Amino acid sequence: MRIKLWGVRGSLPTPVSGDSIAAKIRKALSLARPGDISSEESIDSFIRSLPFSVQSTFGGNTTSIQVVTGSGDLIIIDCGSGIRMLGHELMKGDFGEGRGTATVLLSHTHWDHIQGIPFFLPFYVKGNRFNFYSAFPDLKKRLDYQQAYTHFPVSFDFLPAKKEFFTIEAEEELYVNDTKVVNKLMPHPGAAYGYRIEDGGKVLAYTSDCEFNINEIDHIENYRNFFSDADVVVFDTQYTFEESIDKLEFGHSSASMAIDIAGMFNVKRLILFHHEPNYNDEKLESVLFNAKTYLSMNAGRVGDMRVDIAYEGMEIIL
Ligand SMILES: [Zn+2]
Ligand SMILES: [Zn+2]
Repeated sequence: MRIKLWGVRGSLPTPVSGDSIAAKIRKALSLARPGDISSEESIDSFIRSLPFSVQSTFGGNTTSIQVVTGSGDLIIIDCGSGIRMLGHELMKGDFGEGRGTATVLLSHTHWDHIQGIPFFLPFYVKGNRFNFYSAFPDLKKRLDYQQAYTHFPVSFDFLPAKKEFFTIEAEEELYVNDTKVVNKLMPHPGAAYGYRIEDGGKVLAYTSDCEFNINEIDHIENYRNFFSDADVVVFDTQYTFEESIDKLEFGHSSASMAIDIAGMFNVKRLILFHHEPNYNDEKLESVLFNAKTYLSMNAGRVGDMRVDIAYEGMEIIL
């Protein structure tokens, strides 16, 4: 299975500010030596040598990820503003000709997970088919509401692609050809669902949004089937540990909580996800650094795993 992250920010789309770009340029210039800028090649190689937060950005679009299964089926998880660019990419292929089909899974209907829908071009092409599977029986009504005339000029029903809705039970197994998808109710205000996708012997577990606070950790065995032995877990780590204590019941977790849980269930690779809008690229780099420090300090307890931080355009092949 191939996974691509198109939106990794939580809560609100967060463009890079002008001040932040100026700070990146200033930092890069301060690190450059004459040899670094003597040719096109040396400039490229210098840029590649810079910290990620200086040479690039983790991205400001809200959550949307693309999964292409071993059989070539497309599964879209969450439709935050990141889905707009996924739409542009898909329009180059079958979806541009009205011959595309996709399964759509939504963690929940907070704005940051649905706000890209009105701007997803494949919905505007007749002939494309989208199958929405959700444990929220009123999902269609919720999406209609987002595109009420007072909020957006084009209604959801008016979008010409065929959009079908199927209600699934909590933890019901769903199959997209040979790919198994199981949902899991997560602790989050108003409810959110995680998705475990098993394809060709590999496992992706996606959980955005979720708050594994001290009370929820008491029930962590309930989540064993969801996390266990996953090759990759994409996990809501919006807050630092200190913030997660200040913001109890806000609905999000921290990297240290995610590492603890990944360690309990033999997860191989953890992706920190659903970044706080108030965090700039430098801060997110420090979140990753602190997570790696926490991991190494607790290696005896949580075991061996790889920890990365999500950025727009990140691709994972399993
Ligand atoms: Zn969210
Ligand atoms: Zn939410």
